[in-house]
Amino acid sequence: MAAENDTPSMYTVGILTVSDTSSIDATKDKSGPLLAELLTETRQYNVRQTAIVPDEPTPIKKTVEHWCDTMGVDLVLITGGTGFSPRDQTPEAVTPLLDRLTPGITHVLLASSVAVTPFAALSRPVTGIRKKTLVISFPGSPKACKENLMAILNILPHGMDLLKDQPPSSSKKHSGHHHGHHHHHHKGHACVHRSDTHGQHESRSVSLDAPVSQRARTSPYPIIPVDEAEKLVADNAHLTDIVSVRVSQQLLGHVLAEDVEAVEAVPGYRASIVDGYAVRASQGPGIYTVGSVSLASDNDDSSSSSSRIPHDHIVRIATGGMVPAEMDAVVMVEDTRLVEVSEDGKEEKRVEILAKSITSGENIREIGSDCDIGTVVGYKGQNISLVGGELGVLASVGIRQVQVYRKPRVGVLSTGNEVVDHVSTAQLKQGEIRDTNRITLLGAIKTAGFEAIDLGIIKDKVHDIESRLREALEQVDVLITTGGVSMGEADFMKPVLEQKIGAKIHFGRVKMKPGKPTTFATRDSDNKLIFALPGNPASAIVTFYLFVLPGLRKMAGYAQHENPVIPVEITDDVSLDPRPEYHRVRVSIVGNRFIAGSTGGQRSSRMLSLRQANGLLKLPAWTEGKQKLAKGETVPCVLIGPLNPSA
Ligand code: AMP
Ligand code: MG
Repeated sequence: MAAENDTPSMYTVGILTVSDTSSIDATKDKSGPLLAELLTETRQYNVRQTAIVPDEPTPIKKTVEHWCDTMGVDLVLITGGTGFSPRDQTPEAVTPLLDRLTPGITHVLLASSVAVTPFAALSRPVTGIRKKTLVISFPGSPKACKENLMAILNILPHGMDLLKDQPPSSSKKHSGHHHGHHHHHHKGHACVHRSDTHGQHESRSVSLDAPVSQRARTSPYPIIPVDEAEKLVADNAHLTDIVSVRVSQQLLGHVLAEDVEAVEAVPGYRASIVDGYAVRASQGPGIYTVGSVSLASDNDDSSSSSSRIPHDHIVRIATGGMVPAEMDAVVMVEDTRLVEVSEDGKEEKRVEILAKSITSGENIREIGSDCDIGTVVGYKGQNISLVGGELGVLASVGIRQVQVYRKPRVGVLSTGNEVVDHVSTAQLKQGEIRDTNRITLLGAIKTAGFEAIDLGIIKDKVHDIESRLREALEQVDVLITTGGVSMGEADFMKPVLEQKIGAKIHFGRVKMKPGKPTTFATRDSDNKLIFALPGNPASAIVTFYLFVLPGLRKMAGYAQHENPVIPVEITDDVSLDPRPEYHRVRVSIVGNRFIAGSTGGQRSSRMLSLRQANGLLKLPAWTEGKQKLAKGETVPCVLIGPLNPSA
């Protein structure tokens, strides 16, 4: 199937601005960014390199050589340095670099601008071919750049296709399009060149159009330590937007985006702390008549204006009940004695206060004494924990709606020709496997309190991957895929992300076991995060907890987004691996210690190693001095689930 060839490959471009002024102050450069924008708009070009150099032959030469010979871009556009001033040296610097000149293009450039103004004849453009790269120079003015580019835009693709020794782009075949890149990768030292001045990212993936025989045999992505990868995620996990949410169960797991102040006092009236009798403290012990009954909830007649209660009366009151205005203490029922009951024997008539001394204010919670109006009851960055306490706090002080960070929407997509939905009733064919990653990750995302969106399964086809990723990114803030990131012939995830989706890969390999090919990318045009996790179930889940979850927490506004790590005691010897390893364990509380038992065979395909796992032991990499950890040693452990008592 040639589906992937329906979209022509992107041509890679370097744009070089030659200008003394712009080289000192890059904001002066209007032509470079304009050219980049015009090319990007066509969706046919990928501007990989940009640079600004002064009007000096050496930096011009060096940049053009590097882009043609090492980076192997398809097109180099140069703006500036083509006039008559003595500093204008672009043609002199570039011409010796060209293997062949392309006077036809030069002619079109001049003809089109001369049609606008005869002075264009004083421009000295140079165009030609170096190796497989087309090099074209434009004048320095943005207006002339645009005119010149428009004049040749339609003829460029055909020219570049011819250079690549392949049929033009209207045809279906594009093999060998990025030949320069393959060559580079094969040598296994595809180092990152950040010669660009605009912070644009170097794409490292091999061309999607190459046959498997030409695939790279070493990954072009540098392998980075776990903590560096964690940092890259944290640096790119931006806060989501702010939304207003009702104080309800909906609010659980959100983080406040504002300080919240109490709008009501608690208590809102003078409330009794005990069951007993409201009294005048000054009156002291003695026998009193029991006046009108006040229950905790009975406070409608609150206006009970003072001095309605005779001086020889006290008032029965329940815990939380409102103390009548003229009373200033409550004596608890235990400090009283019943003296006389009503005729029907049901009501208390007279009661003796036994307490020797009563102080004013005793057993009364004054208005606002728990929480006064204006007290800060929630602060920006504070989370509404699943424990629930914060909900009660907000409810108690009259808050009905708060501003929080929206929880990120997270999509989960499985990839693989062999992957079959777990609900499918058809007998698995040879080579087919059940999709275990999707259901596991959806569950883990939900449990962590985020919105999980099931995006199904897709085949390992460039076209399918591309269209589903595009669709998915419309719906979610964070996309998680599993599979297709290792070195197999059907592992298209990284090149599709870079070459088709416009995503920037921050890392493509991590020094860890399992999970080495874990890939993290962002699409900065719309702030999306993409985690392309390995296909093996244990790898997918371990890397979800290590990299994805902290990122989600950070986006949702959690101040503490990192995973909790606790010291645990291991119950068995473990031998160490050359890579730092994350060993799935079950952590229990035994007495006052955390004990970690292995969940069995740790091969990354073995799903069973996740059963009952609530921790990931952080095993250090093997060293000459230390090749194993002994039973009883204490090891740091990342907690991924709740702790349970006993082993
Ligand atoms: P990949 O990264 O695509 O090469 O996949 C690595 C291994 O994980 C292969 O053996 C796949 O069959 C397996 N795998 C990929 N996706 C899934 C999935 N969703 N559920 C279970 N196993 C998977
Ligand atoms: Mg696969």
